[in-house]
Formats: sequence, C-alpha cells, structure tokens
Amino acid sequence: MCEKCLNENGNFCPKNLFYKDIVKKVGREEEGIRYKYKEISKCQGCLKCELSCPEGAIQSVTIVN
Ligand code: SF4
Repeated sequence: MCEKCLNENGNFCPKNLFYKDIVKKVGREEEGIRYKYKEISKCQGCLKCELSCPEGAIQSVTIVN
C-alpha cells in the first residue's frame, strides 16, 4: 500500500489503470488497490507496473487463446 501505482504522472502506469477502493480481506473490508479491468484494452503491455512495484506485488501473466 505504498500507493506508487496510484501516481498519475505516468511513471508507474502510463494509462493510470490502478485505483484505490475498498477491498475484502478475510473477514473484513479495508482500503486496497484495484486494477481497472474494464479498461484493460488501454494496457499497452509495457510492464512498467511489474517492474516498478517495490513489493513485487504485480505479476504479468500470459494468456493463451
Ligand atoms: S503493462 Fe499495462 S497496466 Fe502495466 S504499466 Fe503498462 S499500461 Fe499500465
């Protein structure tokens, strides 16, 4: 929750695809970070997010159609 991913200067995510929201954890709700899946078509696949997260909390995946 360093919130670097929420920075809108484009250094973390050029498309600003991360946002703060209330998320469910085991037995409680608290502030967390979500990804704008509805806007995933804007993702340019630069992987800046994966490389920039200091906790390594973001991992890219390969989707096979
Ligand atoms: S790979 Fe997609 S989500 Fe990650 S920083 Fe680049 S545009 Fe943003």
